[in-house]
Amino acid sequence: MNRLRSVLLSALLLSGFFPAVGLGGEGASPIVRRVVVVSIDGLRLDALRPDWMPNLTRVADRGVVAEGARCVVPSRTIPNHISMVTGKFPAAHGFLTNEFEGRYAAGTLFEILAARNRTSGLYVSKMKLALLARPSQVGRYQMALKRDSKPAVEAFRSDMAAGERSRWNFCFIHLGDPDWAGHRHGWMSPQYGLAVQEADRLFGVIWEALEENGLLEKTLLILTADHGGVEKDHGADVPEVRRVPWIALGGGVRRGVLLSDPVGPQDIAPTVLYALGEPVPSDMQGRVIEGVFAPAEAVR
Ligand SMILES: [Zn+2]
Repeated sequence: MNRLRSVLLSALLLSGFFPAVGLGGEGASPIVRRVVVVSIDGLRLDALRPDWMPNLTRVADRGVVAEGARCVVPSRTIPNHISMVTGKFPAAHGFLTNEFEGRYAAGTLFEILAARNRTSGLYVSKMKLALLARPSQVGRYQMALKRDSKPAVEAFRSDMAAGERSRWNFCFIHLGDPDWAGHRHGWMSPQYGLAVQEADRLFGVIWEALEENGLLEKTLLILTADHGGVEKDHGADVPEVRRVPWIALGGGVRRGVLLSDPVGPQDIAPTVLYALGEPVPSDMQGRVIEGVFAPAEAVR
């Protein structure tokens, strides 16, 4: 983390500080053809260490790191993931607990994009995240039947390799490993560290799937987490729980920039729509994190 921090801080000094700007209304020109959001469940910000996450820390300074990112309260899996795909805070999207309530979220990126004839893929490693999208809204609906993140990543890899028809405009990938280990063994325990290493290995597979197929320059990749954790839980409103990674990489993204302004899961949906050149609905509460994007580098 120290090395990464110093690299990013020196990049900040060289490149200047770019604040986030709120945008909405009309869609702009598309910056990328595709956005991939990777949510690593329970990944604490200080778990982003080179020895645990060699793949992510190696590429993080090629992009934008929002160091002030925090999850929303309640700091639970379902409220935060629904905020990511709706652009709303929990009080507005209505999913306030971590229980599967047998209903789908409304106003999600999957719903919005399907209505605009754009395609999506959902690849998750927890069954309860099935509520993020209706099967009819996505081209790929990959659910894990038991605690295993590998099928989600393998499905994504095969889709990216299979050709343009399965390269969805928006892909949401959820990796569960750090959360499972945190609840069982404690956050930052050696076993948690092993789970973070597995998540990083899978991040490496996702990155390679884009790179090997020549898709990196046309894809915005956002890596984040739904919450951190302390001891064996993540309900408390403390920095170990609230602070999460929020890193943008790939096409159209500034290189080596550190954003210090507050960013949260509610900012993902507006930023995804903006990157795809789609208008942002006025009822989204999050902001387009415009500081992510390099000026005048639209990639079609
Ligand atoms: Zn979680």
